[in-house]
Amino acid sequence: MKFSTKAIHAGQSPDPATGAIMTPVYLTSTYVQEEPGKHKGYDYARTNHPTRAALEANLAALEGAAHGLAFASGMAAETTLITTLQAGDHVVCGRDVYGGTYRLFTKVFERFKLEFSFINIYDLKELEPAIRKNTKLVWLESPSNPLLTVTDLKAASKIAHSHGARVVVDNTFATPYLQQPLALGADFVVHSTTKYLGGHSDVVGGAILMNDKAAYDGLKFLQNAMGAVPGPLDCFLVLRGTKTLAVRMRQHCENGRAIAKFLKEHKDVKQVRYPGLPDHPNHDVAKKQMSDFGGMISFELKGGVERNVTFTTKTKLFALAESLGGVESLCGHPITMTHASIPKSEREKGGLPDALVRLSVGIEDVEDLVEDVDQAIRASK
Ligand SMILES: *Cc1c(COP(=O)(O)O)cnc(C)c1O
Repeated sequence: MKFSTKAIHAGQSPDPATGAIMTPVYLTSTYVQEEPGKHKGYDYARTNHPTRAALEANLAALEGAAHGLAFASGMAAETTLITTLQAGDHVVCGRDVYGGTYRLFTKVFERFKLEFSFINIYDLKELEPAIRKNTKLVWLESPSNPLLTVTDLKAASKIAHSHGARVVVDNTFATPYLQQPLALGADFVVHSTTKYLGGHSDVVGGAILMNDKAAYDGLKFLQNAMGAVPGPLDCFLVLRGTKTLAVRMRQHCENGRAIAKFLKEHKDVKQVRYPGLPDHPNHDVAKKQMSDFGGMISFELKGGVERNVTFTTKTKLFALAESLGGVESLCGHPITMTHASIPKSEREKGGLPDALVRLSVGIEDVEDLVEDVDQAIRASK
């Protein structure tokens, strides 16, 4: 089965009770048992839930994974994955990651005696030297947030595995439609389903996808033991979102490409970061491991921080808001918004400019989007 067919059908079959074609939103916390311990596979809704089970099977199919687990948010998925580690374990993490990931690792898990090293990971030179005897995980984001750097996932996985470390890829930006990290050697894929998978800015959710059965069993235990599970309506909304993932992503890519080109050719633009641009430093790797380049762009206008911040207040269609991946276009200023929790010293080491503006290009008519960016650039002078 190919991607769009899986997106629409995997994990879902008509409701046996009524024939309803859509997976019902089972609003129940518990299930009646015939005899103690004898039930239909569901005993308590934190442990097992039919709407969640449909979503987990659907997401696993999209990532080409044997197993999937859904969580209450992307951060809940990350938290649960990190608790597979023991005090004293070490994680190597790309420096350019979602601000909340950096905050979770440094502000929460360092208190539990886990160690984290943040490196510039995209050229892989810093990866091998950063791996220690106690390194258990290498945590990657590609394309990264907000600099849109691309890491060679196959090469990175090979290096990590040669030292006995497992590889996690946060695939939120690319989605399984554009990139499937497990096929490139990763051990775990994590998602914020809040973004492209949900796709309509109306739900918060997360997921972990994997092939290894023992790892799945361990995480399934933790999903229940820690309890960061999504509610049934949230699961339904993400399931509804994935049905149109392929058509939405095609339009996100087309619009992203057009906006990147427009910015690239604009005389007031200092720099554009989009993996689809031939002069992007990791364009060749992106071409090799992604089927297209997505809808996320970051850029800087000439004229410093102030002008760039002004730009974000002058757009009319691009709403100034955190988050990304919805059908509507958004813009943001990472260092005061999504990445405010990353200290300036770390931002400097990672080359994250104070002036950087991030765009999540939606699926509106692209002429309207170009016109909006154009007028906002003029209005920011
Ligand atoms: C939003 C995001 C997260 C966190 O997910 P939530 O659903 O907001 O908890 C993690 N990684 C990336 C790349 C994100 O964009």
